[in-house]
Amino acid sequence: MSSGELIYLDYNATTPLDQRVLDSMLPFFTEDFGNPSSDHVFGWQAAEAVEHSREQIARLVHCRPADLTFTSGATEAANMALFGFCEKNGHKGKHIISCKTEHKAVLDCLQALEKSGCRVSYLDVDSDGNIDLEQLQKMISSETILVNLMLANNETGIIQPMKEISEIVHRHQASMMSDVTQAVGKIPVNLEELNLDVAFFSAHKMYGPKGIGALYINKKNKVRLGPRNFGGQQEKGMRPGTLNVPGIVGFGKAAEVARADMKAEADRLQKLRKQLESGLKRLKGARINSYNSRRLPNTTNISFEGIDGQQLIRKLKNLAVSRGSACSANEMKASHVLKAMRLSEELALSSLRISLGKFTTSEEIDKAIAEITKSVQQLKKAEV
Ligand code: PLP
Repeated sequence: MSSGELIYLDYNATTPLDQRVLDSMLPFFTEDFGNPSSDHVFGWQAAEAVEHSREQIARLVHCRPADLTFTSGATEAANMALFGFCEKNGHKGKHIISCKTEHKAVLDCLQALEKSGCRVSYLDVDSDGNIDLEQLQKMISSETILVNLMLANNETGIIQPMKEISEIVHRHQASMMSDVTQAVGKIPVNLEELNLDVAFFSAHKMYGPKGIGALYINKKNKVRLGPRNFGGQQEKGMRPGTLNVPGIVGFGKAAEVARADMKAEADRLQKLRKQLESGLKRLKGARINSYNSRRLPNTTNISFEGIDGQQLIRKLKNLAVSRGSACSANEMKASHVLKAMRLSEELALSSLRISLGKFTTSEEIDKAIAEITKSVQQLKKAEV
């Protein structure tokens, strides 16, 4: 996707709306504006549209529609999930296991929970970003109530073996929670097969609107969360407040489109990423992070030895790419994910996250390779 000369390669930060998604939403701002809680035709129509969307999303992630609660996005859902879980289950134990490479949406909640008396252990990862299942087995105890691990990492794209992880967790009678935000829409996600108890994700990572997401609670597994908000009976009291009907409708449509397009799109993006990585690997000192692991088809994370990442980003005037995760990009801090993978501070600071998407073309990839190559070479020359 280009805007003038500018090429957008930051689809893990957010995605543009799919035109079909926008078309589905528009009537719900104007003629179909009803409040789904109202007991008249306008309300009934809105409520029907909301339930239709819930079904579309449930079909994408393979779960029961009733197990999905609409939220304002993944961050709110993570807060509801983590605090709600501890409130309801804290009497069973105080120990939570997570990982150093989680998104801030989760890490900041865990930090707050630690202050309120929970004990949180953080798993390490190896230099490719893989979790060590043996370390998990050693950490987990009868005190552990919850294990929270993301399915796919937003910075490197690495995919963790979630089914094996949930088996270990359930064997120890703990609950399994996962941030599936980056995986949904990019790879097949089957929440029931993964045997997750709680999960959360967001529409704007999959060509849906911003400000809408979902919290999954597997009621078959008898997981219970305490409510975080009060004020009405919407979403069965879990998330009170008037529903964002246009957002929900767009989320549903985005799920339907993702389900239909996913296989072909994943194959196409994987080819484009190969083209990109082959081009950039030729640069001396370039290292692709998590290269040997199972990754999302659209994501690459690459470090350039001896190059200042901030200067590199400034030089890449025609490319919208990310240094570390978008949420912390304004801080001059090395990515916590890359540091956990034992990259030096300097190498982590020299890294770019490039994430491709629906509108990325082969021509754009060629231009990106040329621009990065030129900039890296200029910065290397300036150092000599
Ligand atoms: N979790 C992951 C892995 C993400 O990549 C993001 C978005 O950056 C979030 C959570 C937060 O999502 P939202 O923007 O919907 O709050």
